[in-house]
Amino acid sequence: MHKDILKVVLIGDGGVGKTSLRNQYIHKKFTNAYKATIGADFITKEVETDDGKKVMMQIWDTAGQERFQSLGVAYYRGADACVLVYDLFLERWREDFLKQSSLPTEEARHFPILMIGNKIDIDDRVVSRRQARAWAEIHSSDKMQIPCFEASAKNGDNVEKAFAHIAKMVKIP
Ligand code: GDP
Ligand code: MG
Repeated sequence: MHKDILKVVLIGDGGVGKTSLRNQYIHKKFTNAYKATIGADFITKEVETDDGKKVMMQIWDTAGQERFQSLGVAYYRGADACVLVYDLFLERWREDFLKQSSLPTEEARHFPILMIGNKIDIDDRVVSRRQARAWAEIHSSDKMQIPCFEASAKNGDNVEKAFAHIAKMVKIP
């Protein structure tokens, strides 16, 4: 079966910049207004996989349910990759994803995860590049290395690169 839609879910604490990263990637726009999205939704964009296939990447964003600590099964169901956006603390979100997506243990170990440390335009960082890499290393496996990007939804640094990389990580049958 040829799969041509990739479901990608954005997860991470409220306020880390998930919505801003998606806006920057899709519309090349940034606004300082903090507006909780109403109803989880997705936006679709055509991207190219590693072997040159065109696929539609569906990028899901939350409706602000992250305030309730968990996004629930419907949001995660059928995801092909997840993007962990952080500025402070990641572990809880990875655990929540793996728990609620009900992947078999073996599959969960190799599931495509990509990290985006957002807001690099701000000087006062709390997570060093080394800490982020070390975290990714611990949770990577022989078959799945978690790539770490640092980006700014505000000025657009690395946003295109990070999202385009997702399509390169997903195996399409
Ligand atoms: P979400 O809750 O994860 O969707 O976060 P938002 O995208 O709504 O962003 C939360 C706040 O952080 C907003 O005030 C954004 O303007 C701000 N923000 C998001 N990304 C960046 C960034 O890269 N740099 C800076 N300086 N602020 C950002
Ligand atoms: Mg949001």
